[in-house]
Amino acid sequence: MSDCLFCKIIAGEIPSDKVYEDDLCLAFNDIDPKAPTHFLVIPKAHISSVSAISAENSAVVAHIFEVIANLTREQGLESYRVVSNIGEQAGQSVFHLHFHVLSGRDMTWPPG
Ligand code: 5GP
Ligand code: ZN
Repeated sequence: MSDCLFCKIIAGEIPSDKVYEDDLCLAFNDIDPKAPTHFLVIPKAHISSVSAISAENSAVVAHIFEVIANLTREQGLESYRVVSNIGEQAGQSVFHLHFHVLSGRDMTWPPG
């Protein structure tokens, strides 16, 4: 999508601090980290949010969780949180599916 910030990051039109990339997804550090480790994992195909996951596009979600398991293992992260905000009330500000991976500090439950 031409007006999507994360599609522009995938296309290299906006720089990012890349953590991992393959044919299906990209991981990069959040520009405004909320924890000592805070990176985002996004599909290269534009999907607006969890609400738009369907039988046709859901395989990439399993792949992203495999990537998250691998990256966190490689980084030695034993405890971390994976978050996806859906809709403005839940805090979604970029409408391209992304999973936040946060680690390195105590976290409260329930989230605010
Ligand atoms: P959301 O608020 O939609 O759950 O998460 C969007 C995330 O994208 C936020 O944590 C925000 O800091 C991050 N973000 C917004 N713009 C940029 C950018 O240009 N580069 C990077 N690396 N992260 C961004
Ligand atoms: Zn997009």
